[in-house]
Amino acid sequence: MLRTANDEKSVLRDKDVVEGMYINGSWEVSASDHKREVINPANNEVIGTVTEGTVEEVDLAVKAAKDAFYKKGGWKSTYARTRADYLLKISSKLEERKEEIAMLETLNNGKVYGDALEDVEDAINQFQYYAGLATKPHGQTYEVPDEIQAMVIREPIGVVGIIVPWNYPLVMAAQKMSAALAAGCTVVVKPSTQTPLTLIRLFEIIDEVGLPNGVANLVHGSGSVVGNALINHPDVEKISFTGGTATGKQIMRDAADNLKKVGLELGGKSPNIVFADADFDTAVDYALLGIFAQQGQVCSAGSRLLLEKSIYDKFVPELVSRAKKIKIGPGWDEETEMGPLISKSHMENVLNYVKIGVEEGAELLCGGKQITEGDFAKGNFVEPTIFTNTTPDMRIVQEEIFGPVLVIQVFETEEEAIELANGTDFGLAAAVFTNDGAKAQRVIRQLQAGITWINTYHPTFNEAPWSGYKQSGLGGDLGTYGFEEYLYKKQVNIALEVKPSGFYKG
Ligand code: NAD
Repeated sequence: MLRTANDEKSVLRDKDVVEGMYINGSWEVSASDHKREVINPANNEVIGTVTEGTVEEVDLAVKAAKDAFYKKGGWKSTYARTRADYLLKISSKLEERKEEIAMLETLNNGKVYGDALEDVEDAINQFQYYAGLATKPHGQTYEVPDEIQAMVIREPIGVVGIIVPWNYPLVMAAQKMSAALAAGCTVVVKPSTQTPLTLIRLFEIIDEVGLPNGVANLVHGSGSVVGNALINHPDVEKISFTGGTATGKQIMRDAADNLKKVGLELGGKSPNIVFADADFDTAVDYALLGIFAQQGQVCSAGSRLLLEKSIYDKFVPELVSRAKKIKIGPGWDEETEMGPLISKSHMENVLNYVKIGVEEGAELLCGGKQITEGDFAKGNFVEPTIFTNTTPDMRIVQEEIFGPVLVIQVFETEEEAIELANGTDFGLAAAVFTNDGAKAQRVIRQLQAGITWINTYHPTFNEAPWSGYKQSGLGGDLGTYGFEEYLYKKQVNIALEVKPSGFYKG
């Protein structure tokens, strides 16, 4: 077990080490002298330095990926079982190093160690899952007129640019990489500038298992330089993006110029609907977990609690009392239930939303402040915050805050609950708590959301697809659907009798 007082330091490299990019099977990438410090959000100390790429390095990485894809005997034409073997080796090496990598994620992202460990376990499973899928049959034949044999073959689409956010630094990249590599695509990955460290360790593993040069490349840097260069590169066939809705819209606009395919996993403002007949303790518990897990920095967070009016007076005091008891601290402390926000500037954004909520006339029931006692002052810790007396048009009800801020909306009928639930531009996740099975099914069917739960919140699985409705996304990750995102479908028609068409008479 890694969680002793010194463990958080033991996974860090020497401060003088500048970690870099991985292009065409090598860490020896020069050109850029732009370095960026990486910060621990629990105390704002520097925990690493990373070299960032330029447009030239993106070009080098894409060239390497293109060559690795198309060349004779390249990744595209590598036997699926061989591709699967590489993925399984990556998975095994991740397993060997999972505690080290989880602790590093905790230090870099701020998330509680147990959550970070779950992330690494998810990534391990993703490489296993897609290794399995790589070798499964996935063509089709069709019943057409007798003289033709019609079939579809699936082919990897080419070089994929993978752009990921800071809230699940390893797992978001792993879910896209494992599916794309299994399908036979090659990849160039761009982490968030704030959380590059665990992906560097994943690429060390990729190097160790001897993945052919150029099949997977890592380029650090900002969205405006490296992200943009990937989107505009003519040899990148698809951008697989996870991040904010505004960024997703910009990517779609930029990608339009060369009609690049885009997969977009975006933001949310997800409703958690609690009916009066729900199991009380379960519903209170998941209302807390829905929003305060990972400090509310989860795309599918249950950031809107829709509460049936008749239980409001019993439910809300219990919710607030339990929110106040949540143990806040650094993610490596075993007692911690909620860690810091990713950065000072993000914390300022979240606190600004609290100010907006108060100005809009919502009632602040608890929280709303940075925690500044003792060592907390060094980090980006915000109290669990709950607003009530909201109206649907308020910004705190409509906009993704991406922090530990819950807004309560009250309803009296099933129809009203559904209308409120669907009343934002987002459509990522939703939950229903009730002991009436038919009602649960009825409501779920009317919710505009890609990921839904009945009587629970947050569990999802690599086997099942993850995708947003409305402005929460386009395309999707995970499961067999996620695999399809990296495959073209080619129609092949074979004449069963070789003879001229007879159309031209002369
Ligand atoms: P972000 O959109 O600011 O950044 C995401 C990534 O895009 C980063 O790597 C960033 O450098 C890059 N980027 C930024 N501008 C770019 C541009 N113009 N061109 C190309 N790349 C660009 O998001 P974030 O703050 O890192 O992450 C939080 C957001 O991610 C939240 O909105 C959250 O809901 C969303 N998210 C969604 C899912 C999902 O599955 N739907 C999962 C996790 C996070």
